[in-house]
Formats: sequence, structure tokens, C-alpha cells
Amino acid sequence: MQDQDYMKKALDLARQAGSKGEVPIGAILVYKGKIIGQGANQKEEKQNALYHAELLALNQGAQALGTWWLEGCTLYVTLEPCSMCAGALINTRVSRLVYGAKNPRFGACGSAIDLLKSPASNHKIEVVSGCMEKETGDLLSSFFKNLRENKKD
Ligand SMILES: [Zn+2]
Repeated sequence: MQDQDYMKKALDLARQAGSKGEVPIGAILVYKGKIIGQGANQKEEKQNALYHAELLALNQGAQALGTWWLEGCTLYVTLEPCSMCAGALINTRVSRLVYGAKNPRFGACGSAIDLLKSPASNHKIEVVSGCMEKETGDLLSSFFKNLRENKKD
């Protein structure tokens, strides 16, 4: 499987979240070609801002591997991670991050700020941005467009 194939799975999770009224963001954690964690944004359902897709996928991954040290893992996520999730990537020692759409306002992996390249980070992560950028971006923009239109009624 290639990056795009995993990103498609993350997109499926994002769509499922969107259909439940969550901001549509999905994440998949892969180790040696195997999916060991997955998550979709559940902030509204849980009324908890810690339920970001990335954190849920990392959590499952640590449980699957039985260690907090997630070296060798790749996280696929449909939107550029926020500063909380970028911090989690550093702390869990994930080796590679592949994300879809950029997040100019809150993205902490190169857009608004770049925590991963901060001198405060003691861990190097390979970053691939813009994987299926159009599909992941379109999903988010149509979600927010619907939200605005519904508010007008
Ligand atoms: Zn986040």
C-alpha cells in the first residue's frame, strides 16, 4: 500500500465523523505496513477537546504495540495537525507524518507554526504534506460551507 491508499482510509474515517456533525478529520497509524491505530474527530460527541483524530490513533497504536515509543510508525491524517497533536507526535516518537490539507490558521507542522522543527523538539519527524490535498481539503470546505448555510436558516 502506498501513502495515498492509507490516506483514503483516513478520508473514510473523516467522512464518517462529518456525517455525525463533527469537523471531518480522520487519522490512521501504520507500523510495518499494518494499520495499528485509527481515529476520527469526536470532540462534539465526547464534549472533549482532547478527542482529536490523531490522538485517538496514537493511543490505539501505543496499546497495540505495548509501548509509548512509536518509532517506525507513520501517522496519516487528513488535515495538518494542531499544536496539541504535533506535541503528541514528538512525545510518541512517530517517525513519519503524512497529512492532506494544510491548516493556515492552526496548523503546527509548517503552516501557522512549525513545532516539529522547533529547537524545543528533540525528535526528528519526516513530514509529507499535501497527500490527496484536494480531496481532504474539499471535504473540509464543503463541511464548513454547509454549516454556514444551515446557520442562515
Ligand atoms: Zn489536534
